[in-house]
Amino acid sequence: MTTQATRPTTGVSRTAVIIAQARAREHARPDRLFTDPLAEPLVEAVGWIPVQAAGRMNEEHFVLRTRFFDDCLRDAAGAGCTQVAVVAAGLDTRAFRLDWPDGTRLFEIDLPGLMAYKEAVLGVQGARPACDRTVVTADLRDDWPDRLTAAGFDPGRPTVWLIEGLMMYLTEDDNDRLLGRIGALSAPGSRLALEHVNRAYTELPDMRAVHERLRRVGASWVSTMEDPVGRLAGHGWRAAVTPQTELARRHGRPVPRLTDPQIVGDARMWLVSAERVGAERTP
Ligand code: SAM
Repeated sequence: MTTQATRPTTGVSRTAVIIAQARAREHARPDRLFTDPLAEPLVEAVGWIPVQAAGRMNEEHFVLRTRFFDDCLRDAAGAGCTQVAVVAAGLDTRAFRLDWPDGTRLFEIDLPGLMAYKEAVLGVQGARPACDRTVVTADLRDDWPDRLTAAGFDPGRPTVWLIEGLMMYLTEDDNDRLLGRIGALSAPGSRLALEHVNRAYTELPDMRAVHERLRRVGASWVSTMEDPVGRLAGHGWRAAVTPQTELARRHGRPVPRLTDPQIVGDARMWLVSAERVGAERTP
């Protein structure tokens, strides 16, 4: 059904398939933490990617993280963020699977090849969004704010931003530029949810095989974040970190092994939610 040209099988976009696989498997569980009926077709059309031991451990994290960000977006929408920007959307289907308040506008930003593939599969599935959904194809290291505003994004409206599974693929400078641009587009009342890792996480022995596989597909991790609360404060956000131990307890799931402080010590996969408090500090 898809052509080679629209397959997200190379480079960093391949990682989106790995996340969708975790969501498809979760959707099939009777005790699922979220529904995602489109995840399986989005994976099937390109083919399942074999996931080895450490990848499986990360899948437990992807599931808790998906539910965490679902809840962040729902809370923000309920609190008046009627505009949603899913940054590096990948094969995320929240536009279709969450209940959005009337009038919600949702923008998905990702690379053109990935989005062409996604739209082709969603079209075959006859998928209908539960909000006003707009796709923006752009490189997030480039001129994406112009493309986003040209697509109808209104910087005067409170927005909830989601950056899930992206920042480790961008450099520190690119991430700071990204956060600066997001801040400049964020009206009072806006919120931000993001994920990143610290250096100790990247150095976990269990992660060696994952890094090797990512390197082979051209998707190496190139940055870390040691202090999410401080870093986001510098960009005008009041942030809080939610530990996976808390999420696991909340949802009656085991703590993912690679995020259990008793096993990994100081290694962290940060799950961060933040509220806009003002203009960013200039260094
Ligand atoms: N956020 C999605 C999710 O959680 O399902 C996708 C996460 S996936 C691990 C990483 C995504 O980042 C891919 O869809 C990839 O195409 C996108 N990405 C990576 N670098 C990018 C860039 N420079 N510009 C736009 N998108 C990028």
